[in-house]
Amino acid sequence: KWEVHDKKRPQPAMVSAPHGKAPSDAVVLFDGKDLSKWTGGWEVKDGYFQVKPGSGNISTKEGFGSCQLHIEWMVPETCKCEGQHGCNSGLFFMDRYELQILGSNPNKTYPDGMAGAMYGQYPPLVNACNPNGQWNTYDVIFEGPLFDTEGKVTRKASVTVLHNGVALHHKQEFNGPSGHQNTPKYFKYDGTGPIRLQDHGDPVRFRNIWIRPLGEYDQPEK
Ligand code: MG
Repeated sequence: KWEVHDKKRPQPAMVSAPHGKAPSDAVVLFDGKDLSKWTGGWEVKDGYFQVKPGSGNISTKEGFGSCQLHIEWMVPETCKCEGQHGCNSGLFFMDRYELQILGSNPNKTYPDGMAGAMYGQYPPLVNACNPNGQWNTYDVIFEGPLFDTEGKVTRKASVTVLHNGVALHHKQEFNGPSGHQNTPKYFKYDGTGPIRLQDHGDPVRFRNIWIRPLGEYDQPEK
């Protein structure tokens, strides 16, 4: 459609992205103040929020499909990690695909369940986890699945993940929605779902969360 160096090609939209802040076109899911973008009753204090063990998962009120997401998390220094216990949470895309959150420095567990694992499916390429008491960042590009009219998956969900700036996954596909000791099969559903954070009974903390639905090339300027 476009010639090389075509001057009629639309200019990409301007986005300002000051260091450490959400880009200007991002949906801010948590800016340190309140959980108004979420359902669920976890505790907010001093610019972060914390899992309230036993109160259940929290999910965004809005649904998202393919996206770029930034989130920061920390296991408090006082937590004792023993495998999957003591420092476990999780980040779910479309309510279904889990990127594991787990204190993993130090803490040995099954590799497809450590920090940055695509839970139950793929371990991260490396362990880039900070020790308990220090913040971690995940920067994720998530691509949702596509289905044909018969409901057969034509593109699997996949992620590219940077953990503290280190690549853990690159366009790695989920075999299906995440499960414990199993991999449920893909089934057709519409293109969005909430971002969900897991209450696994441990007081994991979160701050600075924002998301950008993934755009397409050559959109006209708004
Ligand atoms: Mg988990």
